[in-house]
Amino acid sequence: MRKKIVAGNWKMNTLKDDALKLASEVVNMAKDETPSDVTVIMGVPFIHLSGVKSLVGNASNVFVAAQNCYFEPKGAFTGEISAPMLKSFGVDYVILGHSERREYFKETHEELAKKVDAVLANGMAPIFCVGEVLSEREAGKQKEVVSKQLEESLYHLSAEDFKKVVIAYEPVWAIGTGKTASSDQAQEMHKDIRDMLASKYGQEVADEISILYGGSAKPTNAPELFANADVDGGLIGGASLASRDFIDITK
Ligand code: PGA
Repeated sequence: MRKKIVAGNWKMNTLKDDALKLASEVVNMAKDETPSDVTVIMGVPFIHLSGVKSLVGNASNVFVAAQNCYFEPKGAFTGEISAPMLKSFGVDYVILGHSERREYFKETHEELAKKVDAVLANGMAPIFCVGEVLSEREAGKQKEVVSKQLEESLYHLSAEDFKKVVIAYEPVWAIGTGKTASSDQAQEMHKDIRDMLASKYGQEVADEISILYGGSAKPTNAPELFANADVDGGLIGGASLASRDFIDITK
């Protein structure tokens, strides 16, 4: 019923030629190998959006995401990229609230709420990242932390808008560390998140939301992680930079 999604987050990687090579491999391999009920997304640096979008063309199962946007539609905000600009390039999804943006660029709940609104108002879907840092996990506070992230940046949305959001649960201690959450830890948090959404928006809405796992996911651990009832796919960092690994994950 809900979408199965494998989204790559290239982060600040790939020069021009690498980006085009990687994207064209992903598009070709996804056409032949990815199951037809899986949505494949490439989250690429702004500067590659146009080139990657051209390569994706009218592929039916591959979409393009940006990794951030600013909340104002236009104006004197030197260096920023707006949601209408992304839309004009045919971008479908925007990753928002990644832990690296929260940590290094001090993105706040309030700012993220405005970015979510801007993305939705422009007909794109946010891939909204939540997750706790190691000290919070060790203190048993992961549920509390994630609940606050959801509440402060998403719960102002109507149910109709909320249904367009994709959630990515990314335990920060598992990102780029090679340390994956165990299959049980992932399922437990995903189920908790779905329960939180159900208590805010009702079970029917909660059951429609795709909740992706992120944090050192790779071809070897993806089958076990994705077999869980509440894990609907993944947000893939490192392993999305190798087309073979990324496509294997989609399988
Ligand atoms: P990783 O990154 O797969 O390299 O751990 C995931 C992410 O940050 O989205």
